[in-house]
Amino acid sequence: MLRDFYEDDHEAYRETVRAFLAREVVPHQRDWDEARWIDRGVYTRAVKAGIYGLQIDERFGGSGEPDYRYRMVVCEEIARINALSFGLTVSLQDDLVLHYLLDLTSEQQKQRWLPAFACGEILGALAMTEPSAGSDLRGLRTTARRDGDHWILNGQKTFISSGLMADVVVVAARTGEGSSAFSLFVVERDTPGFERGPKLDKIGLPGQDTAELFFNDARVPHANLIGEKGRGLQHLMSHLPRERLGVTAKAIATTAAIFEQTVQYCRDRHAFGAPLTAKQHVRFELAEMATQIDVARAYVDKSVMAYNVGQLTPVDAAKGKWYVTELQKSVLDRCLQLHGGYGYMTEYPVARAYLDTRIQTIYGGTTEIMKEIIGRDLAGN
Ligand SMILES: Cc1cc2nc3c(=O)[nH]c(=O)nc-3n(C[C@H](O)[C@H](O)[C@H](O)COP(=O)(O)OP(=O)(O)OC[C@H]3O[C@@H](n4cnc5c(N)ncnc54)[C@H](O)[C@@H]3O)c2cc1C
Repeated sequence: MLRDFYEDDHEAYRETVRAFLAREVVPHQRDWDEARWIDRGVYTRAVKAGIYGLQIDERFGGSGEPDYRYRMVVCEEIARINALSFGLTVSLQDDLVLHYLLDLTSEQQKQRWLPAFACGEILGALAMTEPSAGSDLRGLRTTARRDGDHWILNGQKTFISSGLMADVVVVAARTGEGSSAFSLFVVERDTPGFERGPKLDKIGLPGQDTAELFFNDARVPHANLIGEKGRGLQHLMSHLPRERLGVTAKAIATTAAIFEQTVQYCRDRHAFGAPLTAKQHVRFELAEMATQIDVARAYVDKSVMAYNVGQLTPVDAAKGKWYVTELQKSVLDRCLQLHGGYGYMTEYPVARAYLDTRIQTIYGGTTEIMKEIIGRDLAGN
């Protein structure tokens, strides 16, 4: 089916992204996975090459390009080489952290952080989740108490992507009474009282670091409060459509890439004297998945265009997030099955992707929470 989505400029950009990944990522992927750590320098080179950070205004060193289709191109190219650990950090920067720094900062704060972000001097993380507050952010316990020109932060965060590598962390902390009275702070690397736990062991995304963060009387300057004091929850909520679109974009890109590789595998692999594709069951499996991917992609493309004109609603983003990530889970499982025993070997892209993407229905809001958002809207509240 004709996909009337990209223009010539996007395709030219794709060549740049593809060349960058071939040069800077592909040769190192295996080493990064084994070391369970990605070389920090690749992100500096990536932002300088325009792989992320395009939205930053030109006066701060970016390109001032808000079109999300460029982000889609990056997702597709990263999926094509199955560099999902690398891809998560890129998406964390572009779909989450950067937007807090763009939307919630004063001119002075922009001057402090955006040029450094645009040249790769700083990488960011976003710390909302706590041991006792994941889906239900109203349970946050981390506190921030005003002390002259500073805020004193106490508490703990968990499951924070790039928690170890990040130079700045956007932290949600309680600044008042009431379940939702919290604010957002940019906590910088060398803040006294800010400590990080060891890298957490995950079933997938081995190169991506995920960590616990600790705030023990951490002294954060008042100048690092972003957005409005006491409106942290609203600020988080207003950024969730972009975060969820980011997860959805990665999901459709990876699903399509692994599916294409699986079709080829089924054509090449022989059993009972014929290619796997000679079997009707295999053809029906492939036919179903091809249809599901095409239909889902139409929704994602529409969501991207809606986002571009500021019209992607939280409910529409939630629909895409749960539906496409659940589709990803099911398609990758079926593709793995079609690979037989080879599908269980992590040297095969399908096995790597199967492990790396299992998180997709969980972070950024679980499938169940997405259905709550949609269901509550339908119920009229
Ligand atoms: C690899 C990884 C990276 C992450 N990165 C980050 C990050 O960078 N920053 C960050 O802040 N967080 C991050 N997270 C945290 C992630 O967003 C949370 O794990 C997620 O929101 C779920 O919260 P929870 O783990 O506390 O599960 P819980 O909220 O305890 O949920 C447990 C189960 O109960 C279900 N459930 C909960 N409430 C309801 C309900 N009302 N109705 C029906 N079912 C419900 C959930 O859907 C889930 O199935 C990351 C997590 C992982 C594993």
